[in-house]
Amino acid sequence: MNSLEKELLASLDAGRDRSIAFLRDLLRIPSPNPPGDTRAAANFLQKALSDAGLEPRVFSPHPEMPNIVAGFDGGHAGRHLVLNGHIDVFPVAAHEWTRDPWGGEIVDGRIYGRGACDMKCGLASITLAFLHLHAVRDRLKGRLTYTAVSDEETFGPWGARWMFENHRDLMMGDCLLSGEPSSPLCVRFGEKSPIWIAINIRTPGGHGAYTHTSTSANKIAGAIVTALEEVADVPVRAPDNLVAMFRDPSIAAQVDEGCGIGHASYISKPTLNIGRMSGGLKVNVLPSECRVEADIRLPVGLTREEMRPVIAEILSRFPEATWEELSPPHDSPNWSHPGGEMMQILQDTVVGFGRRRPVPVITLGATDTRLWRYNGVPAYIYGASPDTMAAADENVLIEDYLHILKTHVLAAARYLGSA
Ligand SMILES: [Zn+2]
Repeated sequence: MNSLEKELLASLDAGRDRSIAFLRDLLRIPSPNPPGDTRAAANFLQKALSDAGLEPRVFSPHPEMPNIVAGFDGGHAGRHLVLNGHIDVFPVAAHEWTRDPWGGEIVDGRIYGRGACDMKCGLASITLAFLHLHAVRDRLKGRLTYTAVSDEETFGPWGARWMFENHRDLMMGDCLLSGEPSSPLCVRFGEKSPIWIAINIRTPGGHGAYTHTSTSANKIAGAIVTALEEVADVPVRAPDNLVAMFRDPSIAAQVDEGCGIGHASYISKPTLNIGRMSGGLKVNVLPSECRVEADIRLPVGLTREEMRPVIAEILSRFPEATWEELSPPHDSPNWSHPGGEMMQILQDTVVGFGRRRPVPVITLGATDTRLWRYNGVPAYIYGASPDTMAAADENVLIEDYLHILKTHVLAAARYLGSA
């Protein structure tokens, strides 16, 4: 460890209480999506940046969904690292919580609140990492950019996607580091991609006693849902090295330990979720309309172009059904090199803290990091355990949060290099 790294760790240790308070304050500012209004939380982040003498730029293509970008040059030429986080969080079903979802309470070494793991832990971490590195910028090489965006949880158009479409130059760099949940045991280097479809079924309908007069939109929907399970059997042609990686029992076991039992075995499989079904008017009416919304997840090694004809063939068996895609039409499963430089830096940094070496993982869910990968920028994620992601009583271990912060600071410093 060089002297700059030692200084950075010493300042993080000295700022331990402030770091904890920063996350708790951020958790106390609600930013659920829907509706996705992140203005108050964004103001809080902006103020932290401004107080340090930075001049963050704010882009609000939707007036309630600001995106923040800030950056600084080091004292010497070098590479450009981008940090990313999202400000919005999942909504809250308050009756399911035993803690105040907007309280930032500490109980038994854990901080509770909506977003504690996805991803205000990671957002607080990249914000503080950016500020700690800004304080020593004269000794760093290259450039560090900070991006905090809105409208991530629903893959909405007003966050990172809008920024890439309108200010791509501000988002681009040589590498991306995100603080989305990954588990301290794993580094995310790729992700599956969703195809969301809506199926509308129409039949003449009629009286519920006269089932001989019309087919039932609801019964057809049931048959469609069963038939759609065939998407899970579509063959996948993943690169050999990825297939081998997740068949390695020790990697698979650590992935399951970090991301949840079963995760490793679903990395390479397409899946089907029927997210919504609605049809029919009343118990004794033969339903004339039913709508089904399905969420199909494509693994690396299977493209939308390959899956679309499979969906079309299945649905062609049901002439009463029409369908459309709801998800962005060009997204695809994506991955950066599992042995890439930032992966190795993160792994070595974590080992240097006396923890287990995190293993590379492709995640089942999607994040904004895909946008950097689509633009040719290697993107890696290191963040909190996803245990309570989107669930009631979402929380993060304080020690994990502080560990993630230290890892982000040193990994960024090591990627940029110092002089
Ligand atoms: Zn997230």
